[in-house]
Amino acid sequence: MKAIRLREGKERSLQRRHPWVFEGSIAKGKADPGETVRVEAHDGRFLAWGAYSPQSAIRVRAWSFDEAERIDGDFFARRVQRAVALRQRLAVDSDAVRLVHGEADGLPGLVVDRYGDTLVTQVGFAGTERWKAAIADALLAATGANRLYERSDLGVRKLEGLPEQQGWLRGDGPTQLQIREHAWALQVDIAQGHKTGTYLDQRDNRQHFAQAVRHYGCAEVLNCYSYTGGFTLAALAGGAQQVTSVDSSGPALAAACRHVALNGFDAARHTTVDADVNAYLREGLAQGRRFDAIVLDPPKFAHTVAQAERASRAYKDINRLGLKLLRPGGLLFTFSCSGGIGPELFHKIVAGAGLDAGVDAAIVQRMAAAPDHPTTLEFPEGDYLTGLALMARA
Ligand code: SAH
Repeated sequence: MKAIRLREGKERSLQRRHPWVFEGSIAKGKADPGETVRVEAHDGRFLAWGAYSPQSAIRVRAWSFDEAERIDGDFFARRVQRAVALRQRLAVDSDAVRLVHGEADGLPGLVVDRYGDTLVTQVGFAGTERWKAAIADALLAATGANRLYERSDLGVRKLEGLPEQQGWLRGDGPTQLQIREHAWALQVDIAQGHKTGTYLDQRDNRQHFAQAVRHYGCAEVLNCYSYTGGFTLAALAGGAQQVTSVDSSGPALAAACRHVALNGFDAARHTTVDADVNAYLREGLAQGRRFDAIVLDPPKFAHTVAQAERASRAYKDINRLGLKLLRPGGLLFTFSCSGGIGPELFHKIVAGAGLDAGVDAAIVQRMAAAPDHPTTLEFPEGDYLTGLALMARA
């Protein structure tokens, strides 16, 4: 077994069970991509078993902090079973659920989503890549599913020195699937859709939105960055009279229209706009448009902590415009999925937007990713999705 020796003082993070070891913390030691290594303190004390990734700034990710644990096929079977068992205990009101959420499930760089009887995985780390076959077998055994599709067409694989990969890993079948989420049906394209097909992390927030639209009687709703219309369906299910979906992707808007029809809603209640959201909001403001509820669920504006400042300005800008477009008493459901922007910073950004907009609003709900995308105590970086539901004062 190869050993990775840390510099003095660099053991603290692993001792707190944070699973990452950065390049700069390592005094000596090397291994092959994905190879299991013993990570030790400067004086040789055991800290963790991990996997080495020679090209990544995160040079080692820990598998286990237990010196007696062996990293073998059984280890991965246990981790997969533990992750699946957690989801069985959660009350997920959908046929689609995240089974494995990377570091939070002790399986760094691994995502597995279940859509009905089809599993979809993303492998973003040399360690999980090396154990992919064992993990695939363990997933089928733990879930009873017989097909597993790989969507490792991920930019981050470059940082790991891994090629992008896509296709069936186990079994095969259709890549266009239909699932039920809360009170609506969604079509998911696991081969072409975003992430593993769609945004499961927003599942419960879509339900919160449906409930809010119903409770507050929101008639006119604007869904910005609508993608395939998840929040649009939620608004229609909540009784909105008129919903506008705005996205810069034509195919996403076409899918949103199919979703409206699939769920039996009158097409006359839905309008799509193929536009840049920022430009659309500015134009709406110039024209004096107003809405009873607005969703802002943009793509990740900050990909790294270094981009957080520029991203903050972009978030502030759309939130300022969104707040100005609300009728008195209207609702804004606003989100960030940038890992570098935590809930506190996001709150500050939106507060700044409120000041600039001259809109006073109360936070009526704080939101995060659905619980099948858990954040663990040791790994706060996993807390990437944050959202606020605001009510403008009447
Ligand atoms: N709310 C969606 C997920 C949004 S994903 C859901 O619940 O499923 C982000 C979406 O923003 C993508 O569909 C992408 O096409 C769109 N997008 C990215 N930049 C945009 C821009 N500048 N203007 C409009 N849409 C944009």
